Amino acid sequence: MSMIDRQCPVCDSPERCTLMQVDRWALSQCSHCRMVYIPAVPDYQEHVDHFTWERSYARETQQRRKSPFYRFHPLLRFRKALPATVQLNWVMRHVRQGALLDIGCGGGEFLAQATPFFQVSGIELSPALAKAAQERTPTATIYQMPGASMSVPAGAFDVITMFSYLEHEVYPLQVLTHARDALRPEGILCIKVPNYASLNRRVRGSSWCGYRFPDHCNYFTPSTLRQLLHRAGLHPLPGRLHDCLLTSDNMYLAARRVTVPQEERLVSS
Ligand SMILES: [Zn+2]
Repeated sequence: MSMIDRQCPVCDSPERCTLMQVDRWALSQCSHCRMVYIPAVPDYQEHVDHFTWERSYARETQQRRKSPFYRFHPLLRFRKALPATVQLNWVMRHVRQGALLDIGCGGGEFLAQATPFFQVSGIELSPALAKAAQERTPTATIYQMPGASMSVPAGAFDVITMFSYLEHEVYPLQVLTHARDALRPEGILCIKVPNYASLNRRVRGSSWCGYRFPDHCNYFTPSTLRQLLHRAGLHPLPGRLHDCLLTSDNMYLAARRVTVPQEERLVSS
């Protein structure tokens, strides 16, 4: 298997301790910034071949069927139907129209919902999902490429979304830096990731639903996600209480570009 060995994706420190070993995957914690991550992960091609969402979802469903919670599956299906609407409502609290880019757009489910309100574009690593996204949203511009090497017009987007994406990304800092450059000066970035600080993770231990080895390679808390955003030149915005509840497995965080005062720009140019 072709692998990439990473240092801390938030602060670049090589110092870490192992929290848990699952098969060949070592869940580790940075000794400096406390970021939890898997250092040795499959590269992009391995990811496309073995770990894209549509493949890992089938494995995950099989795994969940073994759980006693699965007998409540009609309820779980109902919960699963909610997020796309929740996500759109959340985005529209910040931006109500304009150009939208969804990074890690999957099969285009969110793009389809956003199309009546935004001019939509998407980035997706998996060729099969990128094709599905294009078929689902024919008016969208879909780029099939890794987020870390994305090539989109600079300063073109009013809003960039990343739903259940950044936890998969081997190079999250590069993606956030590209996203910052792709935003208009007043543009907003909207992120949803699993919350490693959630109460459920502490209670359920290694059975927590946020663990997926190795396709979830970054395990953010509100603190480590904010640190990473700052490093990418993005400023986290205050959210509502329910955007980041300890009782929820996921957290929502919005950010905007850090604007450099004009005097500083003149001095540095
Ligand atoms: Zn670190």
